[in-house]
Amino acid sequence: MATPLFRRLGDVWLGTDRLQRLRLRQTSLAMALMAFCVPMLHYAVGVAHIQPGWPLWTWTALSLGGMVALYAAIRSGWSRRFADPSLTAVQIAFAITSAATGYAQAGLLRGGAFPVLTLILMFGMFQLRARSAYALCAYALALFGAVMVSMTRLQPQIYTVEAELGHFLMLAIMLPAVAALTAKLSRIRHRLAAQREELERALAQLSAIATRDDLTGLPNRRQVSALMEQELQRSLRHGHGFCIALLDLDHFKRVNDQHGHAAGDAVLRAFARAGQAALRATDVIARWGGEEFLVLLPDTAMPLALVGLERLRQHTAALRIDTEDGAQLSVTVSIGLTEHRRDEALSDTVERADQLLYQAKAEGRDRICASDA
Ligand code: GH3
Ligand code: MG
Ligand code: MG
Repeated sequence: MATPLFRRLGDVWLGTDRLQRLRLRQTSLAMALMAFCVPMLHYAVGVAHIQPGWPLWTWTALSLGGMVALYAAIRSGWSRRFADPSLTAVQIAFAITSAATGYAQAGLLRGGAFPVLTLILMFGMFQLRARSAYALCAYALALFGAVMVSMTRLQPQIYTVEAELGHFLMLAIMLPAVAALTAKLSRIRHRLAAQREELERALAQLSAIATRDDLTGLPNRRQVSALMEQELQRSLRHGHGFCIALLDLDHFKRVNDQHGHAAGDAVLRAFARAGQAALRATDVIARWGGEEFLVLLPDTAMPLALVGLERLRQHTAALRIDTEDGAQLSVTVSIGLTEHRRDEALSDTVERADQLLYQAKAEGRDRICASDA
């Protein structure tokens, strides 16, 4: 019973957006710190036997009011318009101001402001960039310096010059050290982010290498095998058929022998481009190995598959490929085309396409041999 109520209250206070909750949790912690500091300052003023007057109540109202305003600015989504919607630097600058003006009133117990100041700066450690950390450190040092000088004039019997000099020296060493640590953490964060990006890029590159053929850019044998397996599963579930064709360039050895391996490569690339252009976007042409290619025609029955591959055969025969030695090459392709039979293994379908390809070669090349299911 209690948990859902707490969760509902949490949702009201922090909202449901993950990032907003993270920001508001931090602001809530800062508010709690402020709520603790208010009675502490009232206690310090009491210890000094000073009657609490308007400065204390003004400080209390401004400090608590300011925190509420910061919470509202984030909770309402208003702060999303800024580069840092959690307003970390603003919150820290505000808390430093509150600590320095509290220091001016805390009298004998003013030393309590120092751990609080450290805690305030630690809030920025995991988020601030190096430049903001140093700027806030300089702001704290300047403000506390001004307050210390003013107080040695206004209440010289409590804020003695010697004590304030000692206090200032302590801050002058401690604050830059915190800023330097924050800057170091910021650099580590940036390095980690850069490494993560690099890793993602490398992963994308690896996946391209693993699935694509280098020479033609077509899916490789491994990739098209996975695609065929997927299509088999789809066809079993939905009951539609699909076709597979094996293609082999005719007398390709001659191209290599007469014009060189580079010209052979150029022919393979030109054929790959022409093949892709001749087929539908849903059909897949892949490099099966050497000068053999495999075409997968998902959700396609024979008459339509034959039309597509006949178009591919004609486009191939019409290709003219310029070589570096000024020759113009043409090429033809032989094709074995078959439809997958329900309940047969993929290897059987491919084997049948291979036999049909062999038949196309034997019957004179530049032709399609197709079988119905
Ligand atoms: P057929 O009409 O019977 O298929 O004759 P063919 O000459 O095409 O047959 P064969 O299988 O004997 O020759 C295939 C040639 O393809 C041999 C091989 O050097 C060449 N080849 C395979 N892979 C590549 C490649 O990546 N680049 C080049 N340039 N040639 C390749
Ligand atoms: Mg071959
Ligand atoms: Mg060949």
